[in-house]
Amino acid sequence: MLAAILSLGGIGLAAAVALGFAAKKFAVEVDPRELAVAEVLSGANCGACGYPGCAAYAKAVATGEAAPNLCTPGGASTVDKIAHIMGVAAVTASPQIAVVLCQGDNPKAKAKYRYLGVADCNAAQKIADGPKECPGGCLGLGTCARVCPFGAIEITPEGLAVISREKCTGCKKCVPACPRSVIRMAPLDATVHVLCNSRDKGAVVRKYCQVGCIACHICAKTVPEAYVVEENLARVVYEHYDQAAPAVAKCPTKCIRDFVEGYPEGSTFAPPVVPVKAEAAA
Ligand code: SF4
Ligand code: SF4
Repeated sequence: MLAAILSLGGIGLAAAVALGFAAKKFAVEVDPRELAVAEVLSGANCGACGYPGCAAYAKAVATGEAAPNLCTPGGASTVDKIAHIMGVAAVTASPQIAVVLCQGDNPKAKAKYRYLGVADCNAAQKIADGPKECPGGCLGLGTCARVCPFGAIEITPEGLAVISREKCTGCKKCVPACPRSVIRMAPLDATVHVLCNSRDKGAVVRKYCQVGCIACHICAKTVPEAYVVEENLARVVYEHYDQAAPAVAKCPTKCIRDFVEGYPEGSTFAPPVVPVKAEAAA
């Protein structure tokens, strides 16, 4: 009996020593900076940084593979903390927001056919390049809204994706999710955008959309610094977004929109608060 106990104890002791040795020999050294960076990230694993999750991004930062300013949802304070851990200067990327470059909801843009399949833009796009006549217009089936981790996208009852300027963190998850490339990133401070994504000629656009860009060049003639027209489509030159507003009223199809005026009809997102100048004291 004693011999059996001693022999079992011996086996246990030998196994413990072997395990301890193996743990030491095969231990993976983790850079303490990787742990520290992971600690300051939110753990939301939203993918805004371009990595599969916060842990992967922390590792990439620690190895020098990734810049410290890619966690856009974390904002400037997260960039500051990561830069401090890595001993580098904090350079915050200018904040960006996602914009749906389309206003052609169901009443305003013609349908090619009646789509009755699953409510998914990628599925709809596979059938004859989508149910809308416009090849670049929003299909309104909400694939983008379902990938947004921040609930920043809603689909209006008229079938148009709308992004909340207040809720969007600029994580970019919605951009590759859209099969029509209708969502683009733009500077957060820019409120004026050309909300069209069709590169068809003006005469063709007029046949299928009431609010599409017809490439008339009026915007570029009104403010040459703030607009370019390429491939039959006007766009705001965002380096000069602060000059873009005067063209809003001149656009004949109203495809240039200033979001200070509020969100499209049907959206539940609250209109942005427009600051009112205080009356001068009498
Ligand atoms: S923006 Fe793109 S993904 Fe979103 S509803 Fe429109 S077509 Fe679908
Ligand atoms: S709308 Fe949502 S998914 Fe798109 S960039 Fe903004 S937060 Fe990210």
